[in-house]
Amino acid sequence: MSATTIPDYGTLGERAAAGLKPRALSDEQKVAKAKEAFLAGMTADMATYLESCIHCGMCAEACHFYIATGEAKYTPIFKVEPLKKVYRRELAPLRAFNRFVSRDITVQDLEDWKELAYDSCTQCGRCSLLCPMGIHIQSMIQVVRNGLAAAGMAPAELQAVSDEQKDKGSILGAGADKLREVVERVRAKGIEVPLDKDKADVLVLSSALDFLKDESVLAATAKVMNKLGVSWTIRSDGFESANFGALSGDVQAQKRISKRVIDAAMAAGAKKVIVAECGHAYPVLRWEAATLYGKTLPFEILSVAEYLGQELKAGRLKVKKAGNGASHVTFHDPCKLGRMGGSFDESRDVLRALGVKLTEMESHGRTNLCCGGGGGVAMLKSALPLRQKAFELKREEVERTGAPTVVTACNTCMQNLEAGKAWLNWDKDIVNLVQLVSDNLA
Ligand code: SF4
Ligand code: SF4
Repeated sequence: MSATTIPDYGTLGERAAAGLKPRALSDEQKVAKAKEAFLAGMTADMATYLESCIHCGMCAEACHFYIATGEAKYTPIFKVEPLKKVYRRELAPLRAFNRFVSRDITVQDLEDWKELAYDSCTQCGRCSLLCPMGIHIQSMIQVVRNGLAAAGMAPAELQAVSDEQKDKGSILGAGADKLREVVERVRAKGIEVPLDKDKADVLVLSSALDFLKDESVLAATAKVMNKLGVSWTIRSDGFESANFGALSGDVQAQKRISKRVIDAAMAAGAKKVIVAECGHAYPVLRWEAATLYGKTLPFEILSVAEYLGQELKAGRLKVKKAGNGASHVTFHDPCKLGRMGGSFDESRDVLRALGVKLTEMESHGRTNLCCGGGGGVAMLKSALPLRQKAFELKREEVERTGAPTVVTACNTCMQNLEAGKAWLNWDKDIVNLVQLVSDNLA
């Protein structure tokens, strides 16, 4: 069995941060821009959420950062406090009164909330699932990120990559040229990659975050697609799954980055877009891209894991019993694929077809505990101690299964599990689903 190790995101983030062009804004401008973004992102649903919180504290018990530390500041609903303050003074029914009894937000508030909106939120959505009032907390935390990014206060690691991706289409220097180089390496292994086909039924996305290390994930995906015999392509003008605009909170960047993929899919006449194993990329394209684009998208968007599950069910994907040590596994549900995308069964169906023994973690499926690295957190140097504490919860759950192998379907989860393995000298194999399938095609 071949496992894929991808580069340490913390190192990549640090390298990227060094190249950030700082925003020159006065404190007044920062506050004004943050408020403008808060108000632009504030939906009627969010106003209802802010009015309906009963302060029960149950969201705290849902958040891996609170569970791991016990610190009250990591209570999810507290992470939206600046947004709540602006809502109360600008939009709430009692706003005129609220302006007398509460002060406006300050730059210091924004500084103080930076850690809460970025370092201590992986956008995993577990708090929203467990809130008895149905408050969608993580979408409000995203609006706090939007405000901070508008004020030029997003973490340098995320903003630098977001700027690069928006302006050049590359991530950490890896763009279309790097894709072509990686495609040639895959072809040298005897695996055909239909790059830049004019027309194809399926557009497959990849990620520089995978091929900065090597070509193995692209090779595995290509091998599976070729075996399925579908008309597919990967396009150098829109191949990147990751969206650092979404991670940094830069709405304009997010929009432009999503548009590249949409344009590539439309140019190819694709009926399906398969998102690489990249957690946040999936909800960003599936749930948010059409809204930002302003139109219904004329193609279906699926994650690789969903696609594999569907092809298996349809009888087109055939696999044999997995060997080489993958006989007993546990599956880590990527939060954005599972909790947000509702895709739990497809990955498990594939694992069953591979004949492995699957032992579930205590919090698997809808209530799965995040590994602690998503939402851009793995890129942030400042978040490392907190991320390591949160990872301990995941490690304990994996240990209790007794499985020697952890399978997942997200490159950020892969990287975070690999990082955890290195920190703890952990004896687990970490394997991605598409690689496992590719190694065991019948
Ligand atoms: S769980 Fe929901 S209602 Fe309870 S404190 Fe958190 S956001 Fe408020
Ligand atoms: S989305 Fe996840 S990480 Fe963020 S506050 Fe909620 S539970 Fe915590």
